[in-house]
Amino acid sequence: MSAPEGFQQSILRGLKRHCPNCDGKHLFEGYLKVQKICPDCGSDNGRFRVDDVASYFTILLVGHIVIAPSLAIPALWMLPLWGSFLLMLIVVLVATLGALPFIKGAVIGALFAADQKKTRS
Ligand SMILES: [Zn+2]
Repeated sequence: MSAPEGFQQSILRGLKRHCPNCDGKHLFEGYLKVQKICPDCGSDNGRFRVDDVASYFTILLVGHIVIAPSLAIPALWMLPLWGSFLLMLIVVLVATLGALPFIKGAVIGALFAADQKKTRS
């Protein structure tokens, strides 16, 4: 079973932080604040309530990509505890803040696609 083309396209557009409807570059008006109405196509992107879903997926991703593999790096074990903690804190912070807007965009894209499917049927 594969996802419909529109679903994948909407998620990819959201991942790029673009409008899931027209691929315009105005999904966000700041770091994480969604621009309510797309200036390019007029799509009401502000109606999609992402809430904590983007944060959840970001923590899930960072936990699996950064924290778990770091346990297997012996150089981290050689550092003093405060050094390991500081290094991991910086890496986790940068990875989390870097990934969050893209994941939020993807969630908005998925919600847009689900709304489109619901509207069509
Ligand atoms: Zn648009």
